[in-house]
Amino acid sequence: MKRISPGATIGILGNGQLGRMFCLAAARLGYRTHVFGPEANSPAEQVATASTVAAYTDLGALAAFSSSVEVATFEFENVPSAAAAYLAAHTQVRPSWRALEVCQDRIEEKRFFASINAATAPWQPVNSLSELNAALTKIETPAVLKTARLGYDGKGQFKLQTAADAEAAWQAVTGAKPLKPNGIFAVLESFVEFRCEISVIAARGQDGNVVCFEPAENVHANHMLATSTVPARIDAATAAAATGIATRAAEALELIGLLAVEMFVTQTGDLLCNEMAPRPHNSGHWTQDACGTDQFEQLVRAVAGLPLLEPRRHADVVMRNIVGAEVNTIDHFLSDPAAHVHLYGKADVRPGRKMGHVNILRPMSG
Ligand code: AMP
Repeated sequence: MKRISPGATIGILGNGQLGRMFCLAAARLGYRTHVFGPEANSPAEQVATASTVAAYTDLGALAAFSSSVEVATFEFENVPSAAAAYLAAHTQVRPSWRALEVCQDRIEEKRFFASINAATAPWQPVNSLSELNAALTKIETPAVLKTARLGYDGKGQFKLQTAADAEAAWQAVTGAKPLKPNGIFAVLESFVEFRCEISVIAARGQDGNVVCFEPAENVHANHMLATSTVPARIDAATAAAATGIATRAAEALELIGLLAVEMFVTQTGDLLCNEMAPRPHNSGHWTQDACGTDQFEQLVRAVAGLPLLEPRRHADVVMRNIVGAEVNTIDHFLSDPAAHVHLYGKADVRPGRKMGHVNILRPMSG
C-alpha cells in the first residue's frame, strides 16, 4: 500500500477533542489535516489546516471533502453508514467501514468477541418487555439493560437489582417510544462485580504489524471516564492476556488504525470484554506524556503507511479528565511540573462536558 508523503492532507470525520489531538500529531509529522463535522467552532477546527462544517448526510460537502484528502479516518464510530459508504467509494478510508460497523452495535461486538475467543459477561438480546422478562430467567440479577446502539437520546443503560425492575428498565432505555420493527434493540447482561476495569489500545499498521500500549486501569464516575492509571494493578499474565485480546481483535478486523478494547477484570482475575472502539480513546490519553509515541501519532502513522513504533513508557502516570466547571480550578495543575495539561478549546463550559485532561507523571515504579 502506498505511503502518504508529508505535505499531503489527511481527512478526519468528527471535529471534537480526539480530532483535535489527531490533527496536532499529524502536523508534527508534516501532514495537513481537513476536519469534517456538524459543529462550528469545534475543538478540531481550531488546529486543523482546513475545516468543513456540514451534516454527515450532506453528500455534496462529503464529495468536496473526499476530493481534498488523500486518506480519511474517524474520531468516532457512530458515523452514519451512508456517509461512511460514500467516503469509502471516493477516497481511502482507514479503518474500514467493516470495523466501524462491528463497533456500532453491542450485539455485533459481543458476537465478534466470541469469534476471537474473548469472553464477555453472559448476555441476551432483547427486543420487547416480554423478551426482557424471558431474558431475566437466563441472566441473573443484578443485570444491566443497554441499548444495542448508542446515540439514543442518551438513554443508554439501566441497572436492574431484581427481575421486578424489568418494566422500569424497559421504560428507561426505550424512553417509552415505540421501537423500530427491524433489528434488535437492547441487550441484557450480567452485572460484573469487577476487581477493576482496564483498557488496551492496539495499533495496526498497513503491513499488519500490531503494537499495543500497556493496559490502563480505568475508573468511571457518572458513567464517564474519570481516571486512567498506568501501570494497572494487574499481574503480568493478565496484562499479557489483555494485550493478546486487543491484538487478536485488531487482526480479525484487519483494521488499519487504532482499536481500544475495554475489559473487566473479575474477582478471580479473568478478563471479560465490555466494548471496543476503532479510534483514539480517552483511556489512551496517558500515552501523550508517558510514552515516546502516543496513540494519536500511532494512528497518523497507521493511516499514512509509516512504520508503527513499539511504545516505550518512561513514567508512571495518572490521566485525569477535567470535566465541566473543574476547568476553572486547574491552577494547581498549571503550576505543577509533573502535571501536563491538555485543554480542548471549548468555549462553553457545561456540566459533564469534557473540557480537557491532565497527565500527572511519577517516576517509573519498575
Ligand atoms: P459501557 O457504556 O458499556 O462502556 O458502560 C460504561 C460503564 O458502566 C463501564 O465502564 C462500567 O463501569 C459500567 N458497566 C457497564 N456494564 C457493566 C456490567 N455488565 N457490569 C458492571 N459494570 C458495568
